[in-house]
Amino acid sequence: MRILVIEDEHKIANSIKKGLEQESYAVDVAYDGEYGFDLAATEDYDIIVLDLLLPKINGIEICKRLRSKNIHTPILILTAKGQLHEKVEGLNAGADDYLVKPFSFEELLARIRAITRRPKESLGTTLKAGDLTLNTLTFEVKRAGKPIKLSKKEFALLEYLLKHKGVTLTKDQIINHVWDFNADILPNTVEVYIGYLRKKVDKPFKNKPPLIHTVRGFGYKVGDD
Ligand code: CA
Repeated sequence: MRILVIEDEHKIANSIKKGLEQESYAVDVAYDGEYGFDLAATEDYDIIVLDLLLPKINGIEICKRLRSKNIHTPILILTAKGQLHEKVEGLNAGADDYLVKPFSFEELLARIRAITRRPKESLGTTLKAGDLTLNTLTFEVKRAGKPIKLSKKEFALLEYLLKHKGVTLTKDQIINHVWDFNADILPNTVEVYIGYLRKKVDKPFKNKPPLIHTVRGFGYKVGDD
């Protein structure tokens, strides 16, 4: 999952980024409303965490502009105490939820998970392909009942592939969803990580059909066919 944080207080923005990265999300940060809006309008995010009082373009205006451009990325508003009327305005402008500062990181994480689950409810928290399962809440990955230990990036990559089971995803799509904007991505980074996944997900299960497939010239997909 890729998250955009638009927040001008560097300390808050950076601690949110750090925390979310530890939870294996890819995070971009914008410290002003104009840059935040540009990123939100051009990049593909799973959720936007949006402060209201921002330099250049305020949060409510960002909500309105995005929704009027038909961009429906879920938005979680951050608002200071005493700005509660603005929170209502924000929700009217198309935001999905709000959080009052100061908030705990656990609360932020819970809201993000709740919001990003909403449109994908049918998928539930367990993603599957063949005898492989991945739980997006507990981070457990198993094949044929056997636990598989993945790094955070490997987990994020497998989660993205499983959410689009049977669909070929290009390297660009994968990079855009699994890595953040400033990450140092070399052309073969995706290949390298696909290799790591194969080593853990397919290689130890020699009698089983491989689940991770290379589609030559296009990209990768996961599936049991
Ligand atoms: Ca602010």
